[in-house]
Amino acid sequence: MPSPKDVKIYKNWCKRCGICIAFCPKKVLEVDRDGYPFLKDNQSCNGCGLCELICPDFAIVVDYEEDRVTSGE
Ligand code: SF4
Ligand code: SF4
Repeated sequence: MPSPKDVKIYKNWCKRCGICIAFCPKKVLEVDRDGYPFLKDNQSCNGCGLCELICPDFAIVVDYEEDRVTSGE
């Protein structure tokens, strides 16, 4: 599994439901002072992508460290 560099939250779309926080298997997402999730510990995030998959509003995206695979053209 590729290691994540960051987990981005798109606040315009996030409705602060907390689902991503509740389901993160590593418990590395926390609520900021405004109620939005943020990645507290990217060393412990395993890059599973569950937060991205489970968000009903497509408001959270896992940003992976590795370069994108190119087509070789
Ligand atoms: S699941 Fe999506 S909408 Fe809900 S708090 Fe997380 S990022 Fe925001
Ligand atoms: S990628 Fe997995 S471990 Fe990392 S924040 Fe999302 S749900 Fe948690």
